[in-house]
Amino acid sequence: MRCAAAIALGAIVGAAAPAHAVPDAAAPAAPMAKKDRLALAKSTQHGPPPAPGQRPGKLVNLYNFWTKEWLAIAPSSPPPRATIDRFLRDHFTNKPTAMEPKLVDIVVAAAANFHSEVVDVVSGFRHPKYNLILRKKGHQVARDSQHTHGNAIDFFVPNVATAALHVWAKAQKLGGVGLYAESGFVHMDTGPIRFWSGE
Ligand SMILES: [Zn+2]
Repeated sequence: MRCAAAIALGAIVGAAAPAHAVPDAAAPAAPMAKKDRLALAKSTQHGPPPAPGQRPGKLVNLYNFWTKEWLAIAPSSPPPRATIDRFLRDHFTNKPTAMEPKLVDIVVAAAANFHSEVVDVVSGFRHPKYNLILRKKGHQVARDSQHTHGNAIDFFVPNVATAALHVWAKAQKLGGVGLYAESGFVHMDTGPIRFWSGE
């Protein structure tokens, strides 16, 4: 699946657009050894598989545009904070920070609202060093951006119009909401409630 919003974004930031595929949700046909099952549960970071006969909770798969990493979020057993912080790390310095937990809840809520199994994350933590570089390059980033405090996330939902996501985001009353219509993503943060538009 190729995402039009990501292609638009790629054109702006000069990076190749991700051509990611939604991971196959189908379980392997052959029964797995216990050792392999445990290894798989560890590698996908969402706890052990449900007990036999129990229906698994709906997964939301976060995709990081910069690191090309996936993080599966199971509502019943969310990943440890450290895993989330690592996933949302600053890609330039490779450094994580303690992210505001409400941000993962909000993107999972967005996925549920738009019936999507995938959310594309464009930006989570932004190291002050990287934020300064972006400012010097003339990018539209605030000096004391909420991203540098681990309080903001830029994201989009594949196949959902950015305008529709923006309407939903504002209705959540979480904090700041920025619309980046040309780039094809929405910014949400846990700072004071305020709305703005970028490119
Ligand atoms: Zn942002």
